[in-house]
Amino acid sequence: MADPKLISNVPEGPLKDKWSKRKSSIRVVSPNNKRKLEIIVVGTGLGGASAAASLGEMGYNVKIFCISDSPRRAHSIAAQGGINAAKNYQNDNDSVSRLFFDTVKGGDYRSREANVYRLAEVSAAIIDQCVAQGVPFAREYGGYLANRSFGGVQGSRTFYARGQTGQQLLLGAYASLNKEIAAGTVKSYPRHEMLDLVIINGEAKGIIARNLVTGEIERFGAHAVVLATGGYGNTYFLSTNAMNSNGSAAMQAYRKGAFFANPCFAQIHPTCIPVHGDQQCKLTLMSESLRNDGRIWVPKKKEDVMKLRKHEIKPSQIPEEDRDYYLERRYPAFGNLVPRDVASRAAKERCDAGFGVNETGLAVFLDFADAIKRLGHQRVEERYGNLFQMYEKITSTSPWEEPMMIYPAIHYTMGGLWVDYDLQTTIPGLYAIGEANFSDHGGNRLGASALMQGLADGYFILPYTIGNYLSHKFSEPKTDTNAPEFEEAEKAVKERIAKLFAVKGTETVDSIHKKLGHIMWEYVGMARNEAGLKKAIVEIGKLREEFWKNVRVPGTNEEFNQELEKALRLVDFFDIGELMARDALNRRESCGGHFREEMQTEEGETKRDDENFMYVAAWEYKGEGKEPELHKEELKYENIKIVTRNYKD
Ligand SMILES: Cc1cc2nc3c(=O)[nH]c(=O)nc-3n(C[C@H](O)[C@H](O)[C@H](O)COP(=O)(O)OP(=O)(O)OC[C@H]3O[C@@H](n4cnc5c(N)ncnc54)[C@H](O)[C@@H]3O)c2cc1C
Repeated sequence: MADPKLISNVPEGPLKDKWSKRKSSIRVVSPNNKRKLEIIVVGTGLGGASAAASLGEMGYNVKIFCISDSPRRAHSIAAQGGINAAKNYQNDNDSVSRLFFDTVKGGDYRSREANVYRLAEVSAAIIDQCVAQGVPFAREYGGYLANRSFGGVQGSRTFYARGQTGQQLLLGAYASLNKEIAAGTVKSYPRHEMLDLVIINGEAKGIIARNLVTGEIERFGAHAVVLATGGYGNTYFLSTNAMNSNGSAAMQAYRKGAFFANPCFAQIHPTCIPVHGDQQCKLTLMSESLRNDGRIWVPKKKEDVMKLRKHEIKPSQIPEEDRDYYLERRYPAFGNLVPRDVASRAAKERCDAGFGVNETGLAVFLDFADAIKRLGHQRVEERYGNLFQMYEKITSTSPWEEPMMIYPAIHYTMGGLWVDYDLQTTIPGLYAIGEANFSDHGGNRLGASALMQGLADGYFILPYTIGNYLSHKFSEPKTDTNAPEFEEAEKAVKERIAKLFAVKGTETVDSIHKKLGHIMWEYVGMARNEAGLKKAIVEIGKLREEFWKNVRVPGTNEEFNQELEKALRLVDFFDIGELMARDALNRRESCGGHFREEMQTEEGETKRDDENFMYVAAWEYKGEGKEPELHKEELKYENIKIVTRNYKD
């Protein structure tokens, strides 16, 4: 029987008609009434910026918040490789059904079928919208938009703007947002960090935010709240995410009653620049697009490995027959373009077996020599020029001369706030979009699908579905920010800040965060097992205690204080880390990015347990120090055959 607290609200009927059916049944708010309604959007990445621009254009009163000094500096700006859409421009027989199928399969059958189909269905409209905004997608000689391939897919459906797709898409969304800001329908609050969600009579009615420049704690009321606050990859300290990316808003919502779904599904990206010391705070991604033309290998002979590590030879000196193109060998059908989880585990397997290059032994090669020969310098430059430049700046090695060295790193989180088909959380009036929700990617996200999802949510789904909730609200007066619920939430935030300053210990926030990162990578990283996950829960608990005894937060609240910001976020990262470990412990199967060592085939591939785990794990907060309660949303696949993922033939 379905869990009464997890009603997905997926419409009945054939898959291809569900979204049209839902749209036709959604109640509409008239233009006069839209003007009376206020919506808070937290986050200005592709999810938040597109949602706020659309809602403003529709006539709602929107307030938008972000941590950075300008909305266009959201983490989305870092996205490199591209955005998927089922346009079939390459005439390779692509379609909505194929995009749907690849995404469900890529997610290892742990996503909600109806949501993924809708995502594929609206994907083409996203490209049209962005082109109309002037986003400079790459074009073929004849003027058509160009496409390339991404992992887990046998066609080419990825639209791109060199290695700066996120930046160009965000500039498009930001331009639309600015139009609304100028028109007065959107009011922008940069450098404002949400520190709590306010619930009145069980519904989301506002937020408490800290003005990051003055330290003032401010109250904001609305008829509905949308969280577009991104993912929680920085729980691991080192990740490809922007330094400010965090999971705090989602955690604040969780503590106020929003369920958190599939927290253990974190994506480890195979092509990042390897860690090069203990003083690093950020990892750099080398886009997946590079796997279109780059070939991944390690030496076949251990003597060559040793010589490389001692810098006695260069990789280019190793002859062809002594190279192991292990992805092409193990997965001939997809080769270097297997999905990220598969490519990451294969790299780890080679490094664990002693074939890893780099001084640490934790790296493999991504080689363009063949591509340069085949396509010529100019064509490769056109496709990947800025990525090559970035790699050379960071490592002082030119990918034109020697292969890049890469290693897997934390990159994206598929888990997030549980949402129904309308993208509403378990708290009425609270919506979650973009990376902040769990919706479409199951156990593993395919490349170029995050931008597609963020913009689908923001431009084409939320602006409609939120109307259904708001159609009951236009006769309600504006939310009174003097209500006791605001009073209490503000008091709790101020007490939390005072408590942090009162510790007056000796350790920096970063040094403790780094320790959390080590625990997470060791026990909740690329390979997980029961003993390790139990250990992680204990170790995180101890580290939390150490933090509250020994952290030092310098300065005061009444100033621009990034140490305070980081400390507030770290408090939430402890809780997320623990929840991730708990969820990973519960999910005794290997699936997508979640690899339980106890559950693998003889060839080291993931072994799912569909009989016992074909569900979304949604966790309900039960109070501080108490174990959360697990709720299950059963996943039914009525339109897709469930098979073991196979990228070999
Ligand atoms: C290096 C890199 C490259 C990538 N390349 C691709 C790609 O090519 N294709 C693809 O599909 N995906 C890619 N991704 C993934 C993709 O970029 C992200 O998943 C996506 O941009 C997330 O968008 P978002 O709108 O959900 O959140 P974000 O862009 O992370 O934005 C979050 C927003 O929330 C704000 N915020 C957070 N917390 C608070 C708070 N408490 N109070 C106020 N504001 C808050 C932030 O300031 C920010 O404005 C890449 C990711 C990385 C790291």
